[in-house]
This record gives sequence, C-alpha cells and structure tokens, in this order.
Amino acid sequence: MDGVTTYPGRWWHTLPDGRVQCDLCPRDCRLHEGQRGLCFVRKMEGGRMVLTTYGRSSGFCIDPVEKKPLNHFYPGSSILSFGTAGCNLACKFCQNWDISKSREMDRLQDEASPEAIAHAAVRLGCKSVAFTYNDPVIFAEYAMDAADACHARGIKAVAVTGKERSDELPDVPSMAEAGYPEVDVHLWSGIFAPSKVPPAIVAKLQKVFAAAIADTSVAAKLKAMAVNPGGATPDQFEKIIQSDVVKFGDVVKAANLKFEE
Ligand code: SF4
Repeated sequence: MDGVTTYPGRWWHTLPDGRVQCDLCPRDCRLHEGQRGLCFVRKMEGGRMVLTTYGRSSGFCIDPVEKKPLNHFYPGSSILSFGTAGCNLACKFCQNWDISKSREMDRLQDEASPEAIAHAAVRLGCKSVAFTYNDPVIFAEYAMDAADACHARGIKAVAVTGKERSDELPDVPSMAEAGYPEVDVHLWSGIFAPSKVPPAIVAKLQKVFAAAIADTSVAAKLKAMAVNPGGATPDQFEKIIQSDVVKFGDVVKAANLKFEE
C-alpha cells in the first residue's frame, strides 16, 4: 500500500456545476476535480469524494484515561490514542499542528486497519481507544469502522463532543443526552493583554472586539464553523478562567500531567 488511500467518502453530493460538496462538517467544502478540502484529507477524485487517510494513522500513544480527560470512566486504566493527518479546524494553539496541518502525508502515516487498532488495544491491555490529535469528524468512515471493530472485542471507543447539540449537527446527541450529564467541557477562545495595559485601553479593546463579534457577517461565519459567538467583559472572562482552573485542576493532578518544554 502506498502512503495515500482513496477510500470512498460516505457524506457528499454533486452540485449542478459538477463540483462535489462535502456534507461531513460545517465547512461544506465545494471541490473541483483534484481539489482537497480544508482538512486536506478529503478530495474530489474521479467525480466522487474520497478519504485519503483511511487505515492510515499519524501515530499511537498509550495514555492514562484521565488525560482524555475522563475522571469516572474506567479510572486508572490505559487508553490507546490515535489520530490521522489533517484537520478541519485551524486553532492557533494546536499542540499537534505539525500533524494536523502537514501536507507531507506519506511521512506521517502508518498502516493501521480498524481491526489492527482493536487488536493492538487488546494486546496492550487498553480498555478503550481514543480518536484524538485531530478532529475525528474528518476521518469518520475510518473512526466508525475502528469503533465497530473495538466494540466487537469489548473495547470502548472515546471521542469528544459538547454539552449542547450543535445547530450544525442537530442529529448528534450531546454528552448529557448520551447519558453523561456531569461532563461539561467546552472550548473557548479569548484575547489576553499584558497585565500592565491600562484599564482604559483594555476597555476600549473590549468594546471593539465586542462590536466585531456582534457584526452579523462575523457571527454568520463563526456559526458556519460551529463556533457560538460569545463575548464577555474582562471580569466575566476572569471568572470563566478561574472556574476552569478549579474544574480541571484535580484532573490534571490525578493524571500527573506536566508541561513539556
Ligand atoms: S470534512 Fe474536510 S472536506 Fe469535508 S467539509 Fe469539512 S473540511 Fe471540508
């Protein structure tokens, strides 16, 4: 097998102008023949959508399950983590950017069929498998087949979702609806200023950013990316940070997580 596979995509349709539109994530990429989506791993080839990373992992790692972070799910057990190249997100703080944004697909990929992943989890004593490092939505066909192979061997599959249903994915249940009401993890982005910036300047910046977020065209673009436009005052933002420090502090300590230099 060479470095790139062309597995038939399951979620797409043809547009009147001959392009194909990917229906998998809110990006709705519309592709000409040979073009790739923003995630880079989905491509129009031969008039259809293909996934170029099926059965190709960017690497494996055995983690404590608390690092996912799960606190009451097989506590103390190991979880086999894996992902693929590519991502549909563009987070500036991504710690896996060299994989998620790489274009050198061959170098990054090891062959790993869904069955091989399930077999490896059993062999390595892992109770579960995590789809991580990049957004598993972009390799949904691979992730779902891997989850089925794992379930057949009594291994659980773990992926990340949110507290509320996304407007963009109304059929996907929230964590509470899936039976985990105590799980409340959400991502936010904020803008920080050095501590010595005068309050008047901070207030002025906050006003400008709030106006930008309230702009209907900006809000529409954020919604299309499944991001809920928010906005908070500096005081409210500080409370959010303090709350998250308290919420995740125990998990970080339990998992013995350390910053890498
Ligand atoms: S999964 Fe990839 S190709 Fe499909 S819409 Fe999202 S970014 Fe575009």
